[in-house]
Amino acid sequence: MEKTYKILRKAFDRDDELIESGLSLQDAQAHCSNPETSSRTCTSDWGHLLTEKIGAWFDAYEEDCFVEPKCQEGKHEPDFTSISHDVNMSNVIDINCKHCGLSGSVSINSKDILW
Ligand SMILES: [Zn+2]
Repeated sequence: MEKTYKILRKAFDRDDELIESGLSLQDAQAHCSNPETSSRTCTSDWGHLLTEKIGAWFDAYEEDCFVEPKCQEGKHEPDFTSISHDVNMSNVIDINCKHCGLSGSVSINSKDILW
């Protein structure tokens, strides 16, 4: 099995936030070498806002571990307090697993909305 890598957002005095997982080494390195993934080098409004909110931060990659001790039989459970709006897609909601923090997503279909 080929190794995959996860991206963690690290900030002082704050738990690591899982940004993405299942990446190839190449993709993980590309993510972390992007100047927008560190408070020291980012230039975007978004990056500056994040720095205001959480202080100095940077993204780092680590090997994914395939043993997810807190999620038996691969059953993640949603942490409904973690819901956030996907920054890239306006109809997608991100939600984290309450055990392992893995980020999942659900897309909202206009048919699914009860008016
Ligand atoms: Zn999980």
